[in-house]
Amino acid sequence: MMVHAPEALARLEAGNRRFVAEQTVVASLSTTARRDALVSGQEPFAIILGCSDSRVPAELVFDQGFGDLFVIRVAGNVVAPSQVGSVEFAASRFGTRLVVVMGHSQCGAVVATLEELQGRATTESKNLRSIVDRVRPAVEPLLSLGRVHGEDALIREAVRANVRASVHQLRHGSELLETLIHESGLWIVGAEYSLETGVVDFFENVPVSRAGA
Ligand SMILES: [Zn+2]
Repeated sequence: MMVHAPEALARLEAGNRRFVAEQTVVASLSTTARRDALVSGQEPFAIILGCSDSRVPAELVFDQGFGDLFVIRVAGNVVAPSQVGSVEFAASRFGTRLVVVMGHSQCGAVVATLEELQGRATTESKNLRSIVDRVRPAVEPLLSLGRVHGEDALIREAVRANVRASVHQLRHGSELLETLIHESGLWIVGAEYSLETGVVDFFENVPVSRAGA
């Protein structure tokens, strides 16, 4: 049965509250019986595009088990064609109606990009560069405008700008996703996970009206 976007978002928020309160139920969602029931198919209720950072495991911070989340993790939660394709695959194949781009505080990929833009480091590997190059357009304006003062504030703003950029790319970089947004109630929202508190803040593109949630 399809889980609509508002309900999916409410589930993630509830799971994150359990995680923060140390009242997780994930063990009951990850049993052998649950695994067996999923052999014949899956219906994940949310797609998460998150960072590979070892401190931000999506299933744990949302207190979800087998079959619940379709997770794409890449350093800096950047959007490249294979990420768009993964989202398209899950949204069209499984009817998943919520996509969350989840950045996090102190993201190393964002910090590395800032350091390079500030001339404090260079990225030698062309593979690593392909990630930095995708983060750069989102954070470069923060430096050139000079409106953000202090290194911590700069990193915070850069993490959010990078999430917004990925949300924007997913929303506008795929005809298939655009059609699902307009015709089938697909939501693509942005969030930030705090390493300090464990809280996920859904700060970008969450519709004001959340009927059903
Ligand atoms: Zn990161």
